[in-house]
Amino acid sequence: MSSTSSIRVRFAPSPTGMFHVGGARSALFNWVMAAQSGGTLVLRIEDTDTSRNSPEWTEGIIRAMAWLGMDGGQYEGPYFQSANADKHAAAARTLIEAGRAYYCDCVRDDVIARTGDQHKGYDGFCRDRGLEPGPGRALRFRTPDRGHTTVIDLLRGKPVFENAVLEDFVLARADGSVTFLLANAVDDMSQGITHVVRGEEHLSNAPKQQLLWEALGGEPPVWAHVPVIVNEKRQKLSKRRDKVALEDYQAEGYLAAAMRNYLMLLGWAPSGDREIVPWEVIVDEFRIEDVNTSPAFFDEKKLRSFNGEYIRALPVEEFAAACLPFLESAPFEADPAVFDQLAPLAHTRVAVLAEIVPMVDFVFLDEPPFDEQSWNKGMKGPAAEILAAAEEAYRDAPWETAELKDRLEQVGVAHGLKLGKTQAPVRVAVTGRTVGLPLFESLEILGRERTLARIAAARAKLAAASPAS
Ligand code: GLU
Repeated sequence: MSSTSSIRVRFAPSPTGMFHVGGARSALFNWVMAAQSGGTLVLRIEDTDTSRNSPEWTEGIIRAMAWLGMDGGQYEGPYFQSANADKHAAAARTLIEAGRAYYCDCVRDDVIARTGDQHKGYDGFCRDRGLEPGPGRALRFRTPDRGHTTVIDLLRGKPVFENAVLEDFVLARADGSVTFLLANAVDDMSQGITHVVRGEEHLSNAPKQQLLWEALGGEPPVWAHVPVIVNEKRQKLSKRRDKVALEDYQAEGYLAAAMRNYLMLLGWAPSGDREIVPWEVIVDEFRIEDVNTSPAFFDEKKLRSFNGEYIRALPVEEFAAACLPFLESAPFEADPAVFDQLAPLAHTRVAVLAEIVPMVDFVFLDEPPFDEQSWNKGMKGPAAEILAAAEEAYRDAPWETAELKDRLEQVGVAHGLKLGKTQAPVRVAVTGRTVGLPLFESLEILGRERTLARIAAARAKLAAASPAS
């Protein structure tokens, strides 16, 4: 895209559910295009389907866009499609007066009876019947009988649609409500949109909407239909099957910067072999023309690893601050001074911020969390003897990391075990888990008294489970 011409793009979601990662990707593509050209992104909430809309979903969209950094600057809106009803009605009148639209009283069964094919579109039965408006009558667009409509799609070249196969689609339903095709095209036109960048599922609407633009005297926009997003089974991402709500990712502790970097890669890649790149590089390098048309795989594992990298790149204080909301909703009270000691240990070990809670809970809970599977795994073999020896070795040890490690290593040597195996029962006794923060640093922070009490409690439990044989 030339950076000299400024453009007006739009993001036009229907607020019928949680804000979807696919919507966020479209919004970001539009946002970056606007940013590159000093143009504008219009947010238009397509809220005309009142049975499926809710203000809550609209708020979710606005919040999520702001979270991803899409607010202020080149942003305009939100506009609400429902406020443009007069414009939609006026456009319908213009089309009727120009002979480009007609009323139709056919019901679906009539059409099927005539065409003998329930998949076939409307057969044009009412085209020349000259029906007046009236109850039960829909308004249809009269598509040209011949010729073709060529849409300019920046990703797909110039797809050509034969007009003869475009059915006379509905503009306003029998109840008077206008359809998506009309409202969306009229709003794009009246809002001066130059580029329509949206999901591939709308490609088949483009020739119809372009015909509307032309019939209403507008200069049609340039289109770009971005590829569908699929899951690991190559199925189109769906809110019933897949985790698609942006808010769910946010709640798990994905960082906005990681999320938006990852979303931009759904169909596009920066130069070189890079994937994790600063936002400025994305804004500099992104070209809508370079977006791929093959389905984009939403790889949650990859997103997680991106997020881990973004977390590790934060200064530790920022990481600790980002953890606070997660700690606040945890089932324990985290002493800030103690958490400051744990944060550097956890910093390199979490991929999403919510993981901080099970990583540090053992320090703040009165007793280590119990989980049977970890217990069984950690308390195998000579666990009882190791715990007894560890308790002994730690009773008078200087309470610092290197010394604690050294003492346990010696316990291992006495039992012919490597440190890893020697650590396992101690880790489970003290933290309740088989994996977690570095053990000896954790013990140092936990303190002698609590460490010894936990080891003793685990020994007692083991003894109770298997009475002296
Ligand atoms: N409201 C439509 C949707 O959410 C907008 C499609 C478009 O961007 O034109 O699918």
